[in-house]
Amino acid sequence: MAEQKKFYVATSIAYVNAPPHIGYAMELAQADVLARYHRLRGDDVFFLTGTDEHGKKIAEAAAKAGMEPQAYADKMSARFVALCEKLNISYTRFIRTTDKRHVSVVERIWKHMEENGDIYKAMYEGRYCTGCEAFLREAEMEDGVCRIHKKETQAVHEENHFFKFSKYAARVERAIREDEILILPEFRKKEILNLFSDEGIKDFSVSRPKESVGWGIPVPGDDSQIIYVWIDALMNYISGAPQGRLPADVHVIGKDIMRFHTMMLPAFLLSLGYPLSRSIAIHGFILAEGQKMSKSLGNVIDPMELIAQYGKEAVRYYVLREIPSDDDGDFSAARFEERYTADLQNGLGNLVSRVTALAEKYPHVYEGITVGDVFSDTARGEFQTTYSAYNDCIRRFQLHRALEHVWHFVDDSNALVNEAKLWELAEKDAEKAKAVFRTLAENMYAVGVLLAPFLPNTAERVLHALGIDDALSFTDASKKVVRFQKPAQPLFPRLEQNLESRK
Ligand SMILES: [Zn+2]
Repeated sequence: MAEQKKFYVATSIAYVNAPPHIGYAMELAQADVLARYHRLRGDDVFFLTGTDEHGKKIAEAAAKAGMEPQAYADKMSARFVALCEKLNISYTRFIRTTDKRHVSVVERIWKHMEENGDIYKAMYEGRYCTGCEAFLREAEMEDGVCRIHKKETQAVHEENHFFKFSKYAARVERAIREDEILILPEFRKKEILNLFSDEGIKDFSVSRPKESVGWGIPVPGDDSQIIYVWIDALMNYISGAPQGRLPADVHVIGKDIMRFHTMMLPAFLLSLGYPLSRSIAIHGFILAEGQKMSKSLGNVIDPMELIAQYGKEAVRYYVLREIPSDDDGDFSAARFEERYTADLQNGLGNLVSRVTALAEKYPHVYEGITVGDVFSDTARGEFQTTYSAYNDCIRRFQLHRALEHVWHFVDDSNALVNEAKLWELAEKDAEKAKAVFRTLAENMYAVGVLLAPFLPNTAERVLHALGIDDALSFTDASKKVVRFQKPAQPLFPRLEQNLESRK
């Protein structure tokens, strides 16, 4: 047997100064799709997520809550773990930057880079945004105000440790230009390459004075300084992975932090002698009813509330299908219910319930049907085309389009039941009816398997409706005997009922 291919996927780690929002739920779901997809292909998957817990913002948020920073971080980190559970995120490891092991790895990394001559001490002058936890470049400010946070930046004049980015910038730029680090989607690649031509190749500060940060990992050998929170955070991809697990195959991150992942991280990896990450998949922001989400506007969407109301599968579906993986999208309650009703309840749910109901009425008609070989080279043409398009969409980080392909089968199957008038055909012409049942069973099987990375529970229920409860795999072409069974509960209940049952 060929050696199992390794696949390492990581989300960014969430900053615990605020509870999880819907955008982070989307990032988790996207990374989860990639992890589950690769497991179904038979790969050995390592999936890392976690929380970023140091820095001034955390110290401030803790003080505001009247708590010690660590106690505050514990409490907030637990909310992210809970979100992972509620969303059925199949991570291998949840890392926290306050973990002892992480802290000691960061210290070791620091010393290593210092020994390489890549860290040196110098005066720093610049403008800092606590919202970004970063020194801003001119282009990121307007009259000294952060363009993202609309807040006055602070003039900083202090002695800091610097990282010799200038030594690695050309090498990193080439890696991006030549797709050695593949940037997805493609249009972000140009934006990133522009960052290099800007003011991007200067050395950057990697520590802050202790009194201005307060909460973080002290610089080894210099207690007056704290390691800059972004260095600390980026090192999770090294400290969180088992020995020999680098490079990461894909980092799933938001567009607001791509500079850190496409410039700083590769330079650190080069300095440390680690292989460069293979790809960076960059998602956009989720707007709320067309507006930027913010505490002051009171329009922040809480994923936990949505899950409580509609269920995890519906929430995963919305963020994976309605929001384009690689660009900004919109959350709207009306659109959410439209998607739910049209795609899940009337689309997939209805297909499963009507086909199984008819089949249970005519067991002798469909007897002997088998499914299984829908993804191999000998499969029906439309399966081959769809499977290859689906794979292509996942490889290009267009998860929403992969789901579109899955839904072609759902829609075609519903249309087939109607066109064939299956309920009459089963009475009149058993032979023809059996052929229709066979097509439907194959389509439902394909849907069940292809849906598994996206909506794992729904996928299981679709296959269970065919009488198939085996472990799923894209590589399994064995024949499985179909025994249709109507689900005890509809896959997606009508929304009114959903609301009723919560009273
Ligand atoms: Zn800012």
